[in-house]
Amino acid sequence: MTGCVRMSPKKKSAYAVPKLKDFSAAALEKAAKELLSALAAESNAVCSEAEWKIFRDRWMARGNGFLTQINEAWLKAAPKDAKRAAGQCVNELKAKVEEKVGATSERVLSEARSKGDTVGRTQTRDSASDPRRGESPGDRIDITLPGIRRPLGAEHPVIKTMNEMVRVFRNLGYSVEEGPEIETDYYNFEALNFPPNHPARDTQDTLFIANQESKPLRERLLLRTHTSPVQIRTMEKMKPPVRVVCPGKVHRNDAPDATHSPIFHQIEGLAVDTNITFCDLKGTLDHAMKEMFGSSVKTRFYPSFFPFTEPSADVQISCIFCGGRGYRDGGPCRNCKASGWIELLGCGMVDPNVYGFVDYDAKKVSGFAFGMGVERIAILKYGVDDIQLFFNGDVRFLEQFG
Ligand SMILES: [Zn+2]
Repeated sequence: MTGCVRMSPKKKSAYAVPKLKDFSAAALEKAAKELLSALAAESNAVCSEAEWKIFRDRWMARGNGFLTQINEAWLKAAPKDAKRAAGQCVNELKAKVEEKVGATSERVLSEARSKGDTVGRTQTRDSASDPRRGESPGDRIDITLPGIRRPLGAEHPVIKTMNEMVRVFRNLGYSVEEGPEIETDYYNFEALNFPPNHPARDTQDTLFIANQESKPLRERLLLRTHTSPVQIRTMEKMKPPVRVVCPGKVHRNDAPDATHSPIFHQIEGLAVDTNITFCDLKGTLDHAMKEMFGSSVKTRFYPSFFPFTEPSADVQISCIFCGGRGYRDGGPCRNCKASGWIELLGCGMVDPNVYGFVDYDAKKVSGFAFGMGVERIAILKYGVDDIQLFFNGDVRFLEQFG
């Protein structure tokens, strides 16, 4: 039987840590033995979570638990020549107490579960007789009391959205790649074809690590401003065909407000193979947007500019709030500013210059890349009006997504 043993109050162990006068090995051994037998007896007497908490605090509380007391009375008080032995003894006892307290908690939880089952069954079958006759009324379990509830965690809405996006591309045969958040200037900018004076390198946007001035520019460290460095790292280690998505956290020197945050998340994608065309890019993103927002969503591509793609495009989806009409509830649609379209992501064909950095033959391969902000998608999907809500950690907001 592993169940708890009820002790009458009289028999209840009243163990107290003795002050030692004799620090010989035999005396320490005797004191340790007494402590361990008190530990075992008290552990056996624990029958509920509430009792376990008292038991745990009695032994392990920082201020005046038995472990603290033996540290003071047996180790600190020991004369110099006995310190070593006393230290060893106290360490061993500490491990044993911690183990026992942990094991007791597990036993109490599993007993509470199985007792709940047994009593529940007995009561429905034969509610006239006391299922645990012979015990005092205080030992009976009142099944009308609430049980021990363990709070369940749930995915954060940003992570949930990110996982959904990743799933869409996994189903298309993409694999997932991740990379460091602290990057070098080379991977974050240079290899992605950002010219040295490109505005994105400006300290206004980029958070640089301090005291890097002695290093050559390309080796200086910064917090990555996009997940694109992962594309370079992937192409360096993988030969075409490449189909990857790179989800992750990125950093910009932006003051937080309803639409900006110094930390946000991106998902980028990269496909490189022979004969990949802009048609493949359009088809892939059109499919992905329909998977995310519903099959009635339309996409359109607008010319744009990114240093690492040529040609580049911004992708808009038909407004999911007004169905692309531009008005709803008898007025102009606020979400798309009455245009019927919402801008969602950037994309383009990989600039042949980029292949030069990763040793791909630009004459033989072609490919496309795309990138999108995860918070932006979560905001649209869940109708959230302030990006800060994702980062404030307010449970009342977060539990709506559980
Ligand atoms: Zn609209």
